[in-house]
Amino acid sequence: MEPDSTQPGRGERAGQGRKSLLGSFQGGVLGLMNADHIIVPCGNCGTRNRIPRARLKESPVCGRCRTPISVSAAYPGLAVDATDRTFQQEVLQFPGSVLVFFWATWCGYCRSLMPVIGELAKKYAGRIKFVRLQTDTNQATASRYDVLSLPTLLLFKNGRQVNRLVGALPREQLEQQLSALL
Ligand SMILES: [Zn+2]
Repeated sequence: MEPDSTQPGRGERAGQGRKSLLGSFQGGVLGLMNADHIIVPCGNCGTRNRIPRARLKESPVCGRCRTPISVSAAYPGLAVDATDRTFQQEVLQFPGSVLVFFWATWCGYCRSLMPVIGELAKKYAGRIKFVRLQTDTNQATASRYDVLSLPTLLLFKNGRQVNRLVGALPREQLEQQLSALL
């Protein structure tokens, strides 16, 4: 059911002693990966609006009910914290691309990945939603997705899991996987 392209990354359990390549930043150019539109749900009627990226700054309105659409509310540009209770709504019901970062406070690789996730959330604001889930306090979700090693990143598109990345991947590799979501 879940088409994983599982990658043997460096997780908290797998492969100690190899230095993380996180932090070898690419100096990414904004807009390099140029999706020509994004899908944003209307807060009033739920209609999924396809909005050309070029027109995001023109105060778009819903094609059906003309309610102004808050693009920044749908893709805030920072990682949103989800729980067992909110996972369905934040991730599975979200019409668009979502990255879910499964982490724990005791996980060193997770701590080094955290600022990268924050920066990517800003960089991909309006294109990919970033969600964090703490596994210790949300074990039902972690168990449902077989998260055995931390960090684990799951990528969703329109509520369907499309990829799983295990371990602290270098930022460039992470961005390659993200570009497939756009
Ligand atoms: Zn509407």
